[in-house]
Amino acid sequence: MTGFNFRNALMMAGALTVLAACNPDAEPSGSEIIAQAPASSPAASVGETPGTVTPTPMTVPQDILDMHESMLVMDTHLDTPAYFHTPDYNFSVRQTFEQDGTHVDLPRMKEGGLDGGFWVIFTAQGPLDDASYVAARNQALLRQMSIRELAAKYGDEVELAFTADDAERIAGEGKRVVYQSMENAYPLGTDVSLAETFYQGGLRMISPAHFRNNQFADSATDVSGESYGGLSPLGEELVRKANELGMVLDGSHASDETVYDMIELSTTPIILSHTGVDGVYDHFRNIPDELLTAIAEDGGVIQINAFGGYLEALEPSAERQQAMADLEEQFGGSYYDLDEATREEYSAAREEIDAQYPAPRSSFEKFMEHLLYALDLVGPDHVGMGADWDGGGGVDGMTDITFLPKVTAALLEAGYSEEDIEKFWSGNMLRLLRQAEEARTSEMQSPNVLN
Ligand SMILES: [Zn+2]
Repeated sequence: MTGFNFRNALMMAGALTVLAACNPDAEPSGSEIIAQAPASSPAASVGETPGTVTPTPMTVPQDILDMHESMLVMDTHLDTPAYFHTPDYNFSVRQTFEQDGTHVDLPRMKEGGLDGGFWVIFTAQGPLDDASYVAARNQALLRQMSIRELAAKYGDEVELAFTADDAERIAGEGKRVVYQSMENAYPLGTDVSLAETFYQGGLRMISPAHFRNNQFADSATDVSGESYGGLSPLGEELVRKANELGMVLDGSHASDETVYDMIELSTTPIILSHTGVDGVYDHFRNIPDELLTAIAEDGGVIQINAFGGYLEALEPSAERQQAMADLEEQFGGSYYDLDEATREEYSAAREEIDAQYPAPRSSFEKFMEHLLYALDLVGPDHVGMGADWDGGGGVDGMTDITFLPKVTAALLEAGYSEEDIEKFWSGNMLRLLRQAEEARTSEMQSPNVLN
């Protein structure tokens, strides 16, 4: 099959076609999934020509590559499970971003020294009614199932992780580490006890909201403004439930007030699993110094995002701006104003625009600016990596996970020690997970049914 494009496949699957009018300064419908996708449709088909891909150029010296390889390297926001239900995604085949728009597969994990991380159960925000909650719940359960199926299918190479200690053990056996997180707690509906079911399936991190306010919390990017001024009463229940179970609470996408509420209410430190800093680029999805400092003082961690539109103001070409304006006019509103069928149409039209008038891209240097700024502000115990791979992350100079050794090299060059860099890659996020485990009051377990 030629002309295959993962974004199309995602849309077919009804998954992750998130678009949001987050920022009046940004494009009318920026998406963490779509805005940074490849410039044009690939000519090669997925899985057909694995031997003919161009090797990734890497200029990191061998001794730094060796150091990077020796470390436990994790990322807290791998959106790759969004592809698992698409018929052409093959985790074991090496692809390139240029070829199909993906960032993560098993060969590239080995190449980039990525041992694993949190694999995301993502749900786009929908209406706050019972039928939509049920639909979202079902989709999220299937997504969790697909993550477990990956671990089962590639059992020699991949293993589900349930505790902080699991990471080192699994990586020590030469396997990739699969923790699970939920981006947007919307699928839980109005009954937070459903979190127990996801916990049993392996869920260890959860964020209350995504692009819009929902039943749990205010989002950082809801154009209608605040609904609650932070967490809703149900959101407070969610925080208590996460603490009870021993899940890490993730404040990415939440409004600042929601994050403050989370810090105050949670018995353990919170994480921002994929977020940048206002100090480099003031954007709703990034975090102000004061709040980041509060998170760090509470023991929490920011994991730096590599999503171009949040790293810097990227000016789209005049043609693209016009095309986007026409799209809004044609559909009479944004993605969120449309019903399911029209959303697919909208997304297809949007994809054509992306192919014809590519979105501008950010750079590795700009990503490092955010990272070093955060390190400067809160220190190496409070910063890690959550680049939003397969969710819109990736920049020029770091187009996929094979480039991760460059981050290690850049941190060394900036004067950080090997010990600091290990904390950045995994030490900090595992510390938070361990704290969540130690503070948990539930006896509930996650049986690995294959053992
Ligand atoms: Zn996100």
